[in-house]
Amino acid sequence: MTRRAYVIGHPIAHSISAAMHNAAFAAVGFDGRYEAVDVEPEALGAWVEKVRRAETLGFNVTIPHKETITRHLDRVEGDGQLTGAVNAVIVESDARGQVHLTGTNTDTLGFRRLLSEEEGCSLEDQRVLLLGAGGAARAVALVALQDGARELWVVNRHVERADRLIADLQQVRQGTATEAVAWHENRLEALLGSATVVINATPIGLASTEMPVDPSPVQASALVVDLIYNPLKTALLRAAAERGVTVLGGLGMLVHQAAAAFERWTEAEAPIGVMRSAAEAALKERTQR
Ligand code: NAP
Repeated sequence: MTRRAYVIGHPIAHSISAAMHNAAFAAVGFDGRYEAVDVEPEALGAWVEKVRRAETLGFNVTIPHKETITRHLDRVEGDGQLTGAVNAVIVESDARGQVHLTGTNTDTLGFRRLLSEEEGCSLEDQRVLLLGAGGAARAVALVALQDGARELWVVNRHVERADRLIADLQQVRQGTATEAVAWHENRLEALLGSATVVINATPIGLASTEMPVDPSPVQASALVVDLIYNPLKTALLRAAAERGVTVLGGLGMLVHQAAAAFERWTEAEAPIGVMRSAAEAALKERTQR
């Protein structure tokens, strides 16, 4: 039986997850098929019931369903529970043939591995400036707290969302000094100058040449990370790199969060190199269209 996996979102045409997972299935000889499905918010519950069957391996979840999906699952585990955002669902059958849906969050692992595998670093003891307070920012903030950041400033346009993020995650670790900052506060420039790691978790710069902030005040010894992977090097990263700052794009996070879901579904080791090449090829094809 060919096992099925999906990514659901609305819209979903931009997704390159199918390219990564189908290449991985082929590389490890697993009889699986992954496809992207556009699911509108009002159709979410019905879609989940449709795939609640033994043939389904699981599915990834992206905007706008990462939070609302939880009410359609049997349980939410680990970082999915801590962040309140689910990006991967595992579908399993018990001995009586009953199918159970478990939600988790692999963006946290993806982000942690982006830093460790590509830069040999972590957020331990860092002064972290996080731009954005949405689903991706929640994953980054959780990693900052779990891995022992010294300070975490969460900068958001709607500052109350940053307040909520901090309140929700506060119990994870008391040792990190946390603060919500309104986007246009004059303090932003000073904070950019004192941060050791600056992370863009907003879509500003996605398929555009816009920058969420001017990186001029960032110290040359700092690291600037952009979770965006299209383009591979955003305008923010290019401007920071020109000033001698070390920069990291988001493709590694995308590959590692996908690899973590793949391993959970198949119990096979994810072929990281194959998945990364497939992602790069899919992105290239998209930009040439
Ligand atoms: P989301 O939940 O919709 O959150 C978007 C965030 O960006 C919010 O904090 C929002 O602020 C802010 N924002 C949006 N437009 C803005 C603007 N014009 N000015 C200022 N702030 C703005 O999205 P998400 O899932 O967190 O995704 C954020 C980005 O991360 C996307 O570009 C996504 O592609 C990327 N991402 C990458 C990976 C990866 O694996 N590399 C994984 C997940 C996400 P308000 O709250 O004020 O609206």
